[in-house]
Amino acid sequence: MSEYISTRDESGSVFSYSDVLLKGLADDRGLFVPTDLYPEVDDEMLQSLSGLPYVEQYTRIKNKFIGEDIEPATQARLAEQAYDPAHFDIEDGGIVTPVTRVTDNLYIQNLSQGPTAAFKDMALRPLAQEMDHVLTERDELLVLLGATSGDTGSAAEAAVKGLGRLTLFMLSPEEGMSDFQAAQMGALSGDNIFNLSIPGDFTDCQDIVKDLNAQMPGLGAVNSINWGRISSQVPYYFSGYLQVVGDEIGKPVDVVVPTGNFGNILSAYIASEMGLPIRKMYAATNENDPVHRLIQTGEYVKPPSTVKTSSPSMDIQVASNYERLAFDLFDADPAKLHDYMHEFEETGRVSLANHGLSEDELLQAGFDSGVSTAEDRIDSIRWVRKQRGNSIIDPHTADAVTVARKKYEPGVPMLVMSTAQPVKFEKTIREAVGFAPLRSPRFARLEACSSGGFDKVAKDASAVRAYMEDVLVSHVS
Ligand SMILES: *Cc1c(COP(=O)(O)O)cnc(C)c1O
Repeated sequence: MSEYISTRDESGSVFSYSDVLLKGLADDRGLFVPTDLYPEVDDEMLQSLSGLPYVEQYTRIKNKFIGEDIEPATQARLAEQAYDPAHFDIEDGGIVTPVTRVTDNLYIQNLSQGPTAAFKDMALRPLAQEMDHVLTERDELLVLLGATSGDTGSAAEAAVKGLGRLTLFMLSPEEGMSDFQAAQMGALSGDNIFNLSIPGDFTDCQDIVKDLNAQMPGLGAVNSINWGRISSQVPYYFSGYLQVVGDEIGKPVDVVVPTGNFGNILSAYIASEMGLPIRKMYAATNENDPVHRLIQTGEYVKPPSTVKTSSPSMDIQVASNYERLAFDLFDADPAKLHDYMHEFEETGRVSLANHGLSEDELLQAGFDSGVSTAEDRIDSIRWVRKQRGNSIIDPHTADAVTVARKKYEPGVPMLVMSTAQPVKFEKTIREAVGFAPLRSPRFARLEACSSGGFDKVAKDASAVRAYMEDVLVSHVS
């Protein structure tokens, strides 16, 4: 166990957990998955997880993916550092990912108590800790290059800040992030963190990252194609499930996940493949709905562009992590997967039915989906506030609540993933409820305290490369 292969590799090369952590994407541009796909968690283990502190639940599940590659005692220490209460909005001994009931059998799990108030902290903090540990063991350094339209940037920076073996360059579009998100990133710049502001959109930033990955082998990745992130999101489904069912372990539960790049919902699928009693996995999308169409029709179509929405972290054209699920659907056959993905990359569309599978393959695998619009988000924010004594959800969570309300069946508990704090999206909250959400002291004067922290760089891979080389040379010498 704990060996990895690339979804597109037919040669049979295997990699350790540490290798895939540092490599991000495989050399053949496939994604890393466990050789035997997903390890099992039996009933006895599930029982034994109940009631444990989150860090212990996390360590036991995550160990199934790391194996002996990192010393078990070290794995536990890295997890403690990743989820240190000092960085989360929780009391000592409090729950890292608490579940609360909205109404009847409908629950919300809060994944955004981390330092940057979005669920990406849940995976990026352990990712950075693990990377730094492996690099120390190997006596190596790693340069990370990423692109962000909002939440990834600050979460990656907060996680990597001050870890001496990592240098992070983060590209962001000059326009498009919320003031809050830009201020968060600006405040984190310095040391080993570099913010590059690009006169273009998020796709331009992604294209530059893609170019430079081809030109500069050995760059590390912080986006959700990194297996370290996907695997770190699996444990909170166990935590959420156990909080919902209490003593009734074994009882099926539905989950609803606001979906962009298919990372978070893939982690739900992995938890269910491991044996967690999840009945259905609902992907909630905003107006950018290729994932919804894929689940409903078996057709994966790349839209010509993205629509800007009030749940911007889900404004995607392609859902990169779907490739890992598709690999599973094609019985872990890299040749079939390669054909399928190649057709998508060449033509912008591909159909499961034309590749020997059924058009309702994903529905059969336990997925279902729904779309939520700007109006729905406002309505769901108001609805939750009414149901649950003034508590306010963010627009991404609202997309999931919209789908939950449509699909809810009273007999089965339904657990909605809450992926950000409303404070990050004040404009939409004001529109919904007429006032801005309360800020915790650490965010109180964020925008006022930080201006700057970004370097403008031309929309051009060679300009970005020159900037990076400049920094790296002056750091080493
Ligand atoms: C990134 C993000 C999502 C989408 O998650 P994926 O793993 O890309 O599907 C949803 N909500 C928020 C707040 C996010 O930051």
